Amino acid sequence: MNNSEQKMDDDQGNCKRCGHPLEPHIVIAYDTNDFSKGGEMRCQIEDCDCISTISFNLTKE
Ligand SMILES: [Zn+2]
Ligand SMILES: [Zn+2]
Repeated sequence: MNNSEQKMDDDQGNCKRCGHPLEPHIVIAYDTNDFSKGGEMRCQIEDCDCISTISFNLTKE
């Protein structure tokens, strides 16, 4: 197993995209009834247009 899995934050807990702390980022599910559809995470800092699409780790049956 390598460790190159997609991580949203670096070692300091900052967003890899915009460098802001992950803390003000919000996660939005496209469909709250079906998280397998994924969602997006965006930075809430003013003037920052960081948006990343994410997938939720769901346990598969
Ligand atoms: Zn940002
Ligand atoms: Zn960001």
